[in-house]
Amino acid sequence: MAAREAGRDPQSVTLIAVTKTFPAVDTVALARLGVTAVGESRDQQAKLKFQELQPHGIPLEWHFIGQIQRNKITSILRYSDVVHSVDREQLVLPLAQAAAARGRPLEVLVQVNLDPANYSDARAGVSPAELFRLADLVAARPELSLRGLMTVAPQSVPAAATFEQLSGLAERIRSTHPGALWLSAGMSSDLEVAVRYGATHVRIGGAILGNRPRLG
Ligand SMILES: *Cc1c(COP(=O)(O)O)cnc(C)c1O
Repeated sequence: MAAREAGRDPQSVTLIAVTKTFPAVDTVALARLGVTAVGESRDQQAKLKFQELQPHGIPLEWHFIGQIQRNKITSILRYSDVVHSVDREQLVLPLAQAAAARGRPLEVLVQVNLDPANYSDARAGVSPAELFRLADLVAARPELSLRGLMTVAPQSVPAAATFEQLSGLAERIRSTHPGALWLSAGMSSDLEVAVRYGATHVRIGGAILGNRPRLG
């Protein structure tokens, strides 16, 4: 619906159901309802859920959207098809090595921090100034496929301003990396705005699954 309102083809926006903190049965239910992609942010929970779902043989795309700890990379790559949260140079080599070891390239989004009040908060992504170098490093690795950018809109700025800035950065990235066509933007509270500014992937938790149990 958000896509139609923005004059876009609904097929051009992928819904990622953010299933973090919800049990595996919910993921099964969503898959039966036609959800094709799920998002998880904690390796410990995600890997157990993935194992629990294995016997069901449900074809799902797994997107890792949480902060990446280097010592978890091998584990994360056992189940992840796409990683949205590459936010620093130190992750590039270990991700490439783990992708090589599993024998399947990894699709990567670079997470960019668009909170002007807080560019130094590395957990929120790479700063716009450092984005281009990080994207180049990812794209230089044959085991990694640079698919685009991801952001989490900060509270301090209207979402429209954030997503407009993201869209401008994405355009510049595409001038050197034409395959980087994805924009992962939009959560329950701002998905319509994100779609208006070109999001290709929205990450929706609460609006599908209801209130989340607090992250432990
Ligand atoms: C939890 C989470 C979401 C989903 O948020 P909702 O507000 O529940 O839709 C999206 N993106 C990231 C990175 C998250 O951690």
